[in-house]
Amino acid sequence: MSILQSQDPQLHLATLHEELRQLHGMELIASENYVSPAVLEAMSSVFTNKYSEGYPGKRYYGGQEYVDIVETMAIERAKSLFGAKYANVQPLSGSPANLAVYFALLQPGDTVLGLALDHGGHLSHGHPVNASGILYKFTQYTVDKTTGRIDMNQVREIARREKPKLILAGFSAYSRGLDWKEFKSIADEVGAYTMADIAHIAGLVAGKAIDSPVGIFDVVTTTTHKTLRGPRGALILSNSEEIAKKIDRAIFPGMQGGPHIPQIVAKAVAFGEALRPSFQVYAKNVIANAQRLSSKLQDKGFTVISGGTDNHLIVVDMTSKGLAGKEAEKLFDEVGISSSRSTIPYDPRKPMDPSGVRLGTAAVTTRGFGLEQIDFIADVLDRAVQAKDSESKLVALRKEVSDLCCQYPLFAPLKD
Ligand SMILES: *Cc1c(COP(=O)(O)O)cnc(C)c1O
Repeated sequence: MSILQSQDPQLHLATLHEELRQLHGMELIASENYVSPAVLEAMSSVFTNKYSEGYPGKRYYGGQEYVDIVETMAIERAKSLFGAKYANVQPLSGSPANLAVYFALLQPGDTVLGLALDHGGHLSHGHPVNASGILYKFTQYTVDKTTGRIDMNQVREIARREKPKLILAGFSAYSRGLDWKEFKSIADEVGAYTMADIAHIAGLVAGKAIDSPVGIFDVVTTTTHKTLRGPRGALILSNSEEIAKKIDRAIFPGMQGGPHIPQIVAKAVAFGEALRPSFQVYAKNVIANAQRLSSKLQDKGFTVISGGTDNHLIVVDMTSKGLAGKEAEKLFDEVGISSSRSTIPYDPRKPMDPSGVRLGTAAVTTRGFGLEQIDFIADVLDRAVQAKDSESKLVALRKEVSDLCCQYPLFAPLKD
């Protein structure tokens, strides 16, 4: 019996059930992934007992000799993984990391240009209920109605008109590549800082499967727990000493107190894994799997926004199958496949009850799924839609999903 099990059985049981849920289901939520056993182990260490306000060599408490070793290793690995000169590994998560950048580079009320939220942007990119939208004046570009792609001419036009102090490129639900150089040239023209939020695609960038904004943009933020396959947390990269200093001050003492050292150790472990050659194979497979899923679904009559994908994610207009996003999310859950409802560009439905679902292949690829298993997933999604009124058929489908999942651990062993 584990110590937790004997001391606090109810919490132990809920944790165990979550593990079983993850083992028996297929994870297609685009922002989720599975960490390696080493990352998981790194998160549950005695470093959680330690206060370490400040940075390596400049702390406000004693006893930092080992904390300094691990934070320095996390910083050095992040820098080499992304080819950046400066890295801050302390942000607790993606949203606070973004706020820290705004706090470092802007004054309250300054104008920021970013992707509209209902076109794939993120809450921390100026949603009116988020601190970003309350403290700064966000103005937004959109995707083109016919192509589903960002139109750089529109970005330039809005930038010239609104004169933002910061131009933000990044998304939570957009399946196409971003033209980093074009964003930078627009920003230079209007005298704006450039910030890339690669929360979703960091693993694909680290795995050299898509272009990197590092070296082009002033600042790059990312979560560490999505395609990058690390612990929950975030990272801020830059190449300018002046900006890096401002960001360090914005994180501490500006916004945070003591960093979470076990998460930082786990970030370092994950960066180490991402530096291995097998991670580049992983990143390529994630995209190949997403492209396969997108084309198989389109063959079956599902409408995919922009007609395909260049990364790990797909936004499907479920009204093409007579379902709303929420209904589809619930239906797929019933057969053991997790997805997340999503707005589609120019969505005729309300944000709380949108038309789409967002799917992603980062987690199933970590599990070792290849094209054959992806074809099975496309098939199950299609059969679930057809069987939506038959409880017995849905139960049978769920068993098929669970049977396949049982053959795969959550994290396929690293092969190098
Ligand atoms: C997920 C995400 C974040 C924030 O992540 P949290 O860690 O949940 O705060 C920020 N930006 C983008 C684009 C994201 O997709």
